[in-house]
Parts: sequence; C-alpha cells; structure tokens
Amino acid sequence: MMTKEQYFDSLRRLKPVIYCNGRRIESVVDDPMTRPHVNSAGKTYELAFDPQYEDLMTATSSLTGRKINRFTHLHQSTDDLVKKVKMLRMIGQQTGTCFQRCVGFDALNATFIVTHKVDKECGTEYHKRFIEYMKYVQDNDLMVAGSMTDVKGDRSKKPGQQADPDLYVHIVEKRQDGIVIRGAKAHQTGMVNSHELLVLPTTNLGAGDKDYAVACALPVDAPGVVHIFGRQTNGERRLEGDIDTGNAEFAIVGGETLTVLNDVFVPWERVFMCGEHQFAQEYVETFASYHRQNYGGCKVGVADVIIGATAAMADYNGTPNASHIKDKLIEMIHQAETMYNCSIACSAEGHRTEAGNYYVNTLLANTVKLNCTRTMYEISRLAHDIAGGFIATLPYEADYRAEETGPLIEKYFAANPAVPTEHRIRMARLLENMTGGTALAEAMHGAGSPQAMRVMLYREANLEHKKGLARKLAKIQA
Ligand SMILES: Cc1cc2nc3c(=O)[nH]c(=O)nc-3n(C[C@H](O)[C@H](O)[C@H](O)COP(=O)(O)OP(=O)(O)OC[C@H]3O[C@@H](n4cnc5c(N)ncnc54)[C@H](O)[C@@H]3O)c2cc1C
Repeated sequence: MMTKEQYFDSLRRLKPVIYCNGRRIESVVDDPMTRPHVNSAGKTYELAFDPQYEDLMTATSSLTGRKINRFTHLHQSTDDLVKKVKMLRMIGQQTGTCFQRCVGFDALNATFIVTHKVDKECGTEYHKRFIEYMKYVQDNDLMVAGSMTDVKGDRSKKPGQQADPDLYVHIVEKRQDGIVIRGAKAHQTGMVNSHELLVLPTTNLGAGDKDYAVACALPVDAPGVVHIFGRQTNGERRLEGDIDTGNAEFAIVGGETLTVLNDVFVPWERVFMCGEHQFAQEYVETFASYHRQNYGGCKVGVADVIIGATAAMADYNGTPNASHIKDKLIEMIHQAETMYNCSIACSAEGHRTEAGNYYVNTLLANTVKLNCTRTMYEISRLAHDIAGGFIATLPYEADYRAEETGPLIEKYFAANPAVPTEHRIRMARLLENMTGGTALAEAMHGAGSPQAMRVMLYREANLEHKKGLARKLAKIQA
C-alpha cells in the first residue's frame, strides 16, 4: 500500500495534460486549484495506515493474498459491502467532501463481473486480462478514475445517429497490438489526481453501435489524453485566503474534468470489451448500482458535517433551544440516517456473482441514490433555514482582515457572547460552501440522474408478484 506522501510523489511523477482557466496545470499536487482535491483523495491513502481504521480501510486481496487498500478490493462477502459503506461515511466525515476514489473502485468490481460473463458467452479472454490488471492496480495501490459518462450530444439519438460520431467514445482503429479510441468523457471525478482511467460504455448499444462497446484502461497521461478541469462554485476563493472557501483543505466535490481521448492507443492487454454491444447495458447498470450504493455512505458522512455545522450555528446564533430548531435538526438527522439505512440494507442483501465477487441488491441500491437526489437538498434547505441569511451576505475575508472594516465586522456580526465572531463566520462559510451549487448538483446527477433510478425501480420491483399478492387477498383467480 502507498502512504499519503508516496501517493503525492507518485502523482508528481505523472505528466497529464491538464488545462484550467486558460493555463496548463503542471503539478496537481502543488497547484492551489487542484491541491484540495489531492488532499481529499490523499485521505484514502493516509487512513489505510491508521490502526483505528485498519479493518475498514484495508482488505486481503482475493487474487494475491496480500494486504491491500480497500479501494482496490474485489468484494468477497456482504460484510465487505457493508464495510465499504462504513468506510465511505467515515471518510466523508473527515473530509466533508467527495474523496473521489469510489468511482474507480466500482468500475473495477463491475468490470470483473461483466468480463467474466462476456468470456463465458463469447469465448473471449477479457476476464483473464482484467485479473492481471487488477493485480497491477492492487500491488501498486493505484487510484483509478471510473470513466463511464460520454458527452452524449443530442440525448434523443443513439451514438451512431449523432451528427458527430465522436460524441460517444468509440474505437477508430483495431491494430495488431491494440486499439485506438476517440471521444470524450464528461464529469470525470478525481481524474486529475488519478493514476489510471477505466473507460466503460455509457448506455445500452445496438448491433449498429458495436464500435462504441469499448472498455479499457489507460494511464491518465497517455499520449492524446487532454483533461479540462471543471469550474466549481467558489473554486477561485481557494486562491484568496482560507475562510471564504469554507473547507480550504479539502474543497467541495471531486474536481471533475472533461477528458478528451484524442486518438489514444490502448494495448490489447488493457482492453476488456471490444464490440460486445449486447453486454453494454448490463455493464452500465452493474457499475451504476455499485455506485448508487455509495451515496448512503459518503453523502451521509458529508451530511454529518452539515448537521454538525448547522447545530453549531444554532449555538452561535443563540437559538439552540427553540423547539422548531430542534425539530429541524431532527429532520436532518432522519434524512441522513435513512440514506445510511438504505446503503447498509443493499449491502447486507448483496450476493455472490458467478465471477466470485459480491454485488449489491440492485433494487435497494437504486433507492439509496434516488433518496439522495432529494434528501441532500432538504438537508441543505434546513441548514440554510437554521443558519440565517448571514451565510449568503457575509463580507469578504479581506475586509474582515482589514484595519478599517475588520473591527466593524467583528462588532456587528457578534451573536452569542461566548463565541468569537470569527468562529461564527468560519462555520457559516463552511455551510455556505457545502450546501450550494456544485455540491448539490453532484447529489442530483452523480451516479445517474433520478430517472435512471426510477427506470430500474420499475423494472426490479416485480409488479407481477405484487399484483399476485393483491389478487390472492381479494380472492381473484388469475
Ligand atoms: C459532480 C459529478 C460527478 C460525476 N462523476 C462522474 C465520474 O466520475 N465518472 C462518470 O463516468 N460520470 C460521472 N458523473 C456523470 C453522471 O453520471 C451524469 O451526470 C449523469 O449520468 C447524467 O448525465 P448528464 O450529466 O449528461 O445529464 P443529461 O443526460 O443531460 O440529463 C439531464 C436530464 O435529461 C434527462 N435525459 C437525458 N437523456 C434523456 C433521454 N434520452 N430521454 C429522456 N430524458 C433524458 C435526464 O433524465 C435528466 O433529467 C458525475 C456527475 C456529476 C454531476
């Protein structure tokens, strides 16, 4: 396993092409725009060496028998699935943001399942190749970005019907030594501070779209790969000082990119699907269900911080004993723990796959994420209610530091006399940044938009069985 420092050094050795706000980022570890995201992912390395979290953060590899970071593990039991959720909640509590590494973790487990199935039905050798890749990831403790989402162009059209064929990643050349792919993946969490990216299809594909049925792994700095770093709410505040960013060490969300694959060569040993379009939908759903499991872990960890900050704001404002404040805090706790319940349930109800790893209960996993698309907004709404308009109108940190205006802000933003004004300002800024803009959009669209979950709920709920239950009680013969 790598320590946090070794992880940072390993990133310094990579040379990805990253653009941000009109300039090239040379070192993600040392650049102030990307450093907070590096710190968040760094927690997944740091905590693996903390004896207190050893059981959650590490596992024994099913492939090599060696001790590995859990983020590179193939789940071997429902207990592993439960530990995943607990680990995500714990890291969410420590970072207050997305620590990015779960996307690749889920893509790895999904690829293990799907390559096994494709080989069984098509006589291919993807699974064997993929196992070698897994060993490489585990032995080097790599962070892998999960690259599913294509840019998708006109949403009403399939990949091959698009005005521009590159709007979904596709194979443009098959060579003796490998394939060449072109296209772009959007919203790529943790990409700039990952070592590798694992490309997988984004939607179900017909026989006419075989070239879009591609899965493969490549280094983030492979020739032809260009990353364009996304702009986040208040992103530039991190260049100014530490109060206004709210969570200066870890930032908000996962530092997403638009990642362009400009005729990128991938050797055959890193190709895990090449034309088997009939497995694309199952691949997407397997990855997505693992990923939807997470939201009652990491987002609940983040919600724990929001709830704590909100309760502290009530203390600072002098309102902690008001009955409606207590009631709203209870509501926030209820929303958060409901998400956690769903994640634990879909893990405990998981099962062993034919490939040998464990997979979540998909019906329950989809409820987790669908809940999250509402509850994180509701939790944030209540946080805003309790904290007060203060979080929307606070002056700049520079004015708080200035000789002329600082004392005025200090005097007029004082509330509970036992609490320094600076604490009240800091807590308000933390809440402002954790409950707005980019952070909320992630709860909505990360791991798929709500409709994607609803479709799966309708399909998985077995309505015929439920109709049968009703008919039996109503004494209606089928
Ligand atoms: C912060 C964040 C992090 C993310 N991280 C990753 C990541 O690491 N890796 C990754 O691969 N992806 C990632 N995603 C992508 C995520 O999976 C997508 O945002 C999600 O699948 C929705 O796709 P979209 O953003 O293109 O929205 P759209 O597809 O444009 O959806 C917008 C709306 O249109 C609807 N819609 C779309 N297509 C149709 C259609 N054909 N018919 C009817 N309605 C339609 C949707 O239901 C939704 O309501 C991330 C997203 C966010 C916001």
